Amino acid sequence: MTLSRREFLTKMGLTAAAVTALPVHLTAGSTYTVQKGDTLGHIALRFGTSVRAIKNANKLNSDLIRVGQKLSIPADAAPSTDLLGAVRAQTSKIPVRVDNWRRIVVHHSAIKYGNAAAYDREHRRRGMKNGLAYHFVIGNGIDSGDGEIEIGPRWQKQLLGGHVKSYKINLTAIGICLVGNFEKEHPTKRQLDAFTQLMDWLRGQVIPKAIHFAGHKELRGEQTVCPGKNFPLAAMHQRYPG
Ligand SMILES: [Zn+2]
Repeated sequence: MTLSRREFLTKMGLTAAAVTALPVHLTAGSTYTVQKGDTLGHIALRFGTSVRAIKNANKLNSDLIRVGQKLSIPADAAPSTDLLGAVRAQTSKIPVRVDNWRRIVVHHSAIKYGNAAAYDREHRRRGMKNGLAYHFVIGNGIDSGDGEIEIGPRWQKQLLGGHVKSYKINLTAIGICLVGNFEKEHPTKRQLDAFTQLMDWLRGQVIPKAIHFAGHKELRGEQTVCPGKNFPLAAMHQRYPG
């Protein structure tokens, strides 16, 4: 099945605001022309597919691609599942403090086990009375679903985060945590699908104004490798500029 660009974007749950940040030629099942600065990783991320699937479809023996090269994108590359349904439904009942939120910070949990409830218990045990330090947790298929997005009490109640060192930044920063240690492992494809669906929706519909995106380690004063070297931070900055 070939989708038009509009159908593909609608399927991805993208709004007009988010669309402008995406490159043209976004039609799964067709051909993509390599642009300056592209890597197979970026292209796979944009189409919600894997480097391996693109290499197989084009009989590539290495990761090298050149500007102007035409790549066929496998027809099944479009993200198949709406991972956001439950989050949308729950958030529709919450009066979101749209004017409060100024940035979104991504984290890894630095451990391959756990889910929102487990981290909530751990954070309370460490003395955080509001519990789970993050607003959202994205599972890896071990203790919650692969790509499952869990909402924490701080999003339900629109409370400040507890996920970075600076109290001032916590006041206005939404924290999204992907389960896993991305210094050792890679995020799953569905985790990244869920992350981009969540980000597109937060930035496009929930908080439709300029909102800064950062990896935890990029914040001033933080001494951490979070979200880990295997989280595709550069590609995410390209997708979420500003
Ligand atoms: Zn972190």
